[in-house]
Amino acid sequence: MAGIELGYYVKVDDSELYTLKSKYFPNKVGGKPAWLSLKNLPKQDDLRCKECNSLCKFLLQIYSPTKEESGYHRSIFLFYCPNGSCSIKNTDKKCIAFRSQLPKSNEFYSYDSDSENEDTCDKPSASDYNKLCNVCGYIGPLHCGACKKVFYCGKAHQTLDWKQGHKKACKISQYYKNEYPLPEGEIAIEPEPVEKKVEDQESGLNTENMEPTMQDVPASQLEQFAQQEDVVFSKFKERISREPHQVLRYGEEKPLWVGKEVPANIPPCSSCGAPRTFLFQVMPQLLNHLHSEELDWGTLAVYICSKSCDGTDPLDYHPEYVWQQDYDDLRTMGIAVTHIIQAISRVNALGRVPQGLGGKAFIYLNYNDFETTKWISKMIE
Ligand SMILES: [Zn+2]
Ligand SMILES: [Zn+2]
Ligand SMILES: [Zn+2]
Ligand SMILES: [Zn+2]
Repeated sequence: MAGIELGYYVKVDDSELYTLKSKYFPNKVGGKPAWLSLKNLPKQDDLRCKECNSLCKFLLQIYSPTKEESGYHRSIFLFYCPNGSCSIKNTDKKCIAFRSQLPKSNEFYSYDSDSENEDTCDKPSASDYNKLCNVCGYIGPLHCGACKKVFYCGKAHQTLDWKQGHKKACKISQYYKNEYPLPEGEIAIEPEPVEKKVEDQESGLNTENMEPTMQDVPASQLEQFAQQEDVVFSKFKERISREPHQVLRYGEEKPLWVGKEVPANIPPCSSCGAPRTFLFQVMPQLLNHLHSEELDWGTLAVYICSKSCDGTDPLDYHPEYVWQQDYDDLRTMGIAVTHIIQAISRVNALGRVPQGLGGKAFIYLNYNDFETTKWISKMIE
């Protein structure tokens, strides 16, 4: 990829979800991981939050092939701590990254993958080589004692699956929805426009189903808060205003920061010792699509081995580095994202419907934060 590219969240119909399976090398959010290397999957203990030890949820994966033969196929996988009370800020402990890569000729996918016929069969899949948890899609060494047909990563997911519907499905095979993963969607990648868009229609994307953004906030209200913003955040806001729907930025030399707390030093690759370089960042706008009160960040900056090495085994998942940056201060971070639905439901929950906002409400990014809730309720009083 050349130049700066942006990722947009795109809803995918159930009938099209097969396009997010491993053999299509997807860019995707939520659901279960579409593992690239189908062997040597990350171990459960390596998918735990380094702050609170919760099992991290699969957040997203980005297909990012290199020019080298060894990285002909390459995907970066992110996992995020789902524990809402794990509130550490500006940290490298809550988001976990793994890099997986394969040469063009490999034991899993056909050499000429472009010519592969579109079909809904999800083979090859990591489940051909591993027992995978029915709930999260990670390695699942336990199995249901009754039917012995489904596997689990641990007791917690076995219990959850039983409640979600396996209790019935265990006896008579039937469909039920797995509510554990984050909502599944695709990330469409497009070049960043040079100048600010005048109209959304020009982007050529279907914005109908997209969430509202800061463009929806009346200028007078933006003004009110803009005064307090610091330089870093102003820069951030101005840059993303070119494309307010972006959920991912790819191809820059360094991240577009939202605050001042940057990592003191990026640890080198744990396999080969080469320095790690910045690859992409996840934007706060993605939070709007995930509808999960537990997730919260300003931005997630992903750094990977500059040599994109194979480590000791090319089939391994190589741990990489993510820095979560948060806003310096709720009062100064301004209005980066509006989320009318969530704002209004929260405001309604407080029993105070905003007057004079024309049915629109806006909200600070950390809308799920108690401080912010207090602040919103104060503001609309
Ligand atoms: Zn945690
Ligand atoms: Zn599981
Ligand atoms: Zn069973
Ligand atoms: Zn390395």
